[in-house]
Amino acid sequence: MRTFTFHPGPRLVAGTGEAASLAGKLPVGPCLFITDQDIMGLGLTDGCRAALEAADKPVVLFDAVEADPSRATLMAAVSAGEAAGARSVIGFGGGSPMDVAKLAAYLLGSGDDLDSIWGVDIAQGARLPLALVPTTAGTGSEASPISVITCEGGVKLAVNARPLTADWAVLDATLTLGLPRHVTAATGIDAIVHAVEAFTSARLKNPFSDALAREALRLLSGNLLTACNQPDNLDARSAMLLGAHLAGLAFANAPVAGVHALAYPLGGIHHLPHGVSNALMLRHVLAHNAEAARDHYAELAEIVAPECAGDGSQARAALLIERLDELVADSGIAPRLRDHGIAFEDAPLLAREAMKQTRLLVNNPCPIEEDDARRLYESAW
Ligand SMILES: [Zn+2]
Repeated sequence: MRTFTFHPGPRLVAGTGEAASLAGKLPVGPCLFITDQDIMGLGLTDGCRAALEAADKPVVLFDAVEADPSRATLMAAVSAGEAAGARSVIGFGGGSPMDVAKLAAYLLGSGDDLDSIWGVDIAQGARLPLALVPTTAGTGSEASPISVITCEGGVKLAVNARPLTADWAVLDATLTLGLPRHVTAATGIDAIVHAVEAFTSARLKNPFSDALAREALRLLSGNLLTACNQPDNLDARSAMLLGAHLAGLAFANAPVAGVHALAYPLGGIHHLPHGVSNALMLRHVLAHNAEAARDHYAELAEIVAPECAGDGSQARAALLIERLDELVADSGIAPRLRDHGIAFEDAPLLAREAMKQTRLLVNNPCPIEEDDARRLYESAW
């Protein structure tokens, strides 16, 4: 048997209204509750916060998390928790509040200095009890031990270490019913990319993450358009939320690669949402990888297009790329870089920036050099 390691995610609770059950799981004392103002405005946290208060776990509300959360926001959340003597932390929302909650719980519990823990497996201390409640079906942040924070000069730094894995994750699809179509589409495509890149991850691909990635792709590709077209369809929303969680568990163990590496500069320089950036680069990076990853893509093709089972591997790999591209188009995401205000002349700068994502590029099935990246941005334009 080939050597591999698999780290499971948090304990999972799924079901309508289950966020309130966290009141019975977290320790007595103040709970630092991290979310954002959109989530507060939608009233999604009301039931959970009321249950905490009733269980003698006073809520210390921090609702100032922005998209691509900054170091200043993280440190403000930590200060709020410190001042109140927080005994636990809940992250409630999309990837941003959950990423802030993971690191806040760690910094409050360990007392470590943030600048001493950036990188992989460096943070080894104890954190406060932590629960995460996603309200989008995309990042899978509730499943992973990774937190990405935007630091000085717009540089994104990450902490990726086991202590950041939450104690609890709650999947309640009713929290995702109100998501607008463009958010459903972008976050759903992001989750699909997590599944595909985990399945082809060059260094840490393993049988557990493969099984999770396959099931994630089945759920996500089979339900994305229904969730976009029928936003109140709870079955489709449930499948998307579960699929995003499974994809998160897969890529927490078999990390993402070239699509994410080339997507990050589009977010960093042009502030495109993470899922949109991934959608724009998806078909181009997959085409670049098609020869190296042919057998893996061929296997995934049978999930999105079962009728191709008898075809040769090259034809199946090409069909996977085509079907995923159709999914992007049908979800309503404008498919070209030019549709998002990016100039053809931006390609060299984007390519130079993408080369900095070495932690992702090493996972790609084949090398992506700076010239390749420039060509891929030009073909995506
Ligand atoms: Zn992603």
